[in-house]
Order: sequence, then C-alpha cells, then structure tokens
Amino acid sequence: MQTSRIMHWTAAARRGLSRFADIALPPLCLGCGRGVSAHAALCGDCWAGIDFIERPFCAVTGIPFPYDAGDGAVSAAAVAYPPAYARARAAMRYSDGAARIIHRFKYSDRMESAPAFARWLARIGSDILPQADMVAPVPLHKRRLFSRRFNQSAELARALARNAGLAYQPELLARVRATRPQVGLSGDQRRRNVAGAFRLGPGAQALVRDRHVVLVDDVMTTGATAEACAKVLVQAGAAEVSVLCLARVVPAGGASI
Ligand SMILES: [Zn+2]
Repeated sequence: MQTSRIMHWTAAARRGLSRFADIALPPLCLGCGRGVSAHAALCGDCWAGIDFIERPFCAVTGIPFPYDAGDGAVSAAAVAYPPAYARARAAMRYSDGAARIIHRFKYSDRMESAPAFARWLARIGSDILPQADMVAPVPLHKRRLFSRRFNQSAELARALARNAGLAYQPELLARVRATRPQVGLSGDQRRRNVAGAFRLGPGAQALVRDRHVVLVDDVMTTGATAEACAKVLVQAGAAEVSVLCLARVVPAGGASI
C-alpha cells in the first residue's frame, strides 16, 4: 500500500517535471539545435539527411540487404564468422547527417537528447528488448571519460533501460586498457586494437549468468568493439548478448547472402 502510494506520487512528480522541462527547455533539433515543434526530434533538413535502417537486413548483424531475402535471412559473413552477440541493430546508417547528430550529442552536453535517442533504440530493439534482462553500455576508458565529461553510450543505455523497464547495469564491463581511436584502422587492426581491452566489472559474473544482456553503443563501425564486449559477457555465462546502437557503418552494397 505504502509502496504503491509512493510510486503514484513519484510518477506524478515525474510527469510534472517533464511538463516543466518542456517549458524550461524548448525542444531543439537533435542535429542542428534549431527550434522544432514539441516532440519532433529533428528539423526537416536534418531528417532528410538521415538514412534510417529498415528491413530487409541480416537477422544477426542488422546490416541491410540490397533485396528482400525473407524473414530471418542471415548474411554470408555472419554465417562464416558468427559473432559472439546474437543480434545487432542500428537505428541509422553512419552518414554525414548521422555523424553531425552524434557529434552534437557527444560534445555539446545536450543530455536531454538521450531520451529521444532511447526511443529510437527501443523501436529498433522492439523484437529484442521484451526478452532482455538488463541494459549495459560499452564502457569508455576512465581517461577518455574525463576528457569527454560523460559517456554518451552510458547515457543512451540508462535512458533505454528506463524506457524499456529493464535494469541498468553501468558497470557490467570495464575497459582495462585505453585503445587507440579506431578511426583509420582496418578491420583486422580494429580487432587487435580492442582485443583484451575489456573485462568483467566487479560482481558482474553473478549478474549476467544465464541472462540476456543488451549492450548499447553510439556508433558501430566494423563491430570489433561490440564483439570484444559480447565475448567477455558470453564467456562469463550470459545466455545471450544483443547490441543496439544509434548508427553503424554500412559497407557499400550492404550485406550479401
Ligand atoms: Zn536540424
């Protein structure tokens, strides 16, 4: 009784706060910062520059297929080299427009953008989240966390967990080694760059055993980072690991079967 009353008041207070936030912070485009109508995430121009990923795509990697190969079709690459994660999904292709949006999110401290992005992740993860147990971010190394002031993947993961009603586990993984930025590295160099960079956080083994973990990252390039993180979780006994990210690099021509 007591608990339900507290929950009722908490929910009411939150609704009040979100109304207050609408008044205090007029909605701004996530891409360019221009004013937009309430609840629109992007202005028309930024919207036009975004390439949202839609089906058909590889059921494992989420990379779009150039043609419809039927439900559950898996790309040749994922069959030949099955990743440690079961499924990965991205909201949009990594394009100039996507890069602008992510850059703005990363460096301009517009942390109120996280709930809007979390709605995108909830949409692309609609077939994954109902069976998931927890949401965890791809961790940043402490040194980089300090220079960037916040881990945007953690903010995304926290907002997604709230949106999906799942447990948020920010310390499931730790980055034990600062890695070179992946920009400009080949796929093979990226894999070597992140190999051994992650380990299980303290107490995480008991949390992940037989559980379905959703990993959240802002951008997936070759998938080497997601793969390294998923491997650690699977080795720790996770039943399944899925990956949701805002944007991913799509190879020219998409995935092949
Ligand atoms: Zn805009």
